Amino acid sequence: MSSILITGGNGGLGSGIGRYFLEKDPEAKVWLGVRSNRSQAEALAAEFSGRCALINLEVTSKESWESAVASILEADGRLDVLVNNAGLHRDHLLATMPDEAWTSVISANLDAVFLGCRAVIRPMMSQRFGRIINISSLSAILPPLGQTNYAAAKAGVVALTQTLAKEVARAGITVNAILPGYIATEALAHMDEEAAKRAKSGIPMRRFGTPVEVASAVLFLACHDAGYVTGSALKIDGGIF
Ligand code: NDP
Repeated sequence: MSSILITGGNGGLGSGIGRYFLEKDPEAKVWLGVRSNRSQAEALAAEFSGRCALINLEVTSKESWESAVASILEADGRLDVLVNNAGLHRDHLLATMPDEAWTSVISANLDAVFLGCRAVIRPMMSQRFGRIINISSLSAILPPLGQTNYAAAKAGVVALTQTLAKEVARAGITVNAILPGYIATEALAHMDEEAAKRAKSGIPMRRFGTPVEVASAVLFLACHDAGYVTGSALKIDGGIF
């Protein structure tokens, strides 16, 4: 059995990654980190009863991380994979960006990844095995206007990933980042039809990606045989960059 924690487990990508692990790996036990919304995660846990469970996790809180990781270790005796997936954006041009839009985005997308990695590193070191997959964004390397906060946070995630990968390389722990482009989830729901059409015209594949197309890369990076892949930043963007 391998124990997998996915933050933002009720979101489009988080629940998609959870489902993919559950369907493809019969040995996977999936913990879906949830905060306020939980209906999608609950449905998945009901469908895969005994192999999937919800865990309260506010990713910006050190105490919440400590308590979630302790509960998982108590239940499973190990924690093999952490997928730092929770995140949000609050787009504004920098000149008029409210302080809260800056701090909340840095906190949920970057501070959270630091807190999550720190919370799991010791147990993974004692296991001499661990896989950390950080969900960054194409915005880290190709930011659109209005995302100084989000792009800075997601670029920080890539830098954190590359540094931590070196720090834990000898402990059997790999740390990798994924940079999705446009993936069809709730996060894109704010786009009207015209904006979606414009966005697709800038994608060589002329379509948005699916959660499965990200989840398959997460599963690869999480597997034992990917043990020599670390510090990488894999973009999944239909060819934009
Ligand atoms: P969703 O909005 O569908 O899901 C985001 C999830 O993150 C929600 O479950 C949300 O919980 C959770 N979350 C946000 N802040 C916190 C917090 N402080 N503590 C705990 N949970 C939190 O987005 P996606 O599934 O599309 O995105 C997942 C990740 O992928 C994000 O990091 C995003 O930046 C990244 N990404 C997405 C792209 C896309 O096109 N969809 C493109 C590039 C990157 P709740 O519902 O309770 O608020």
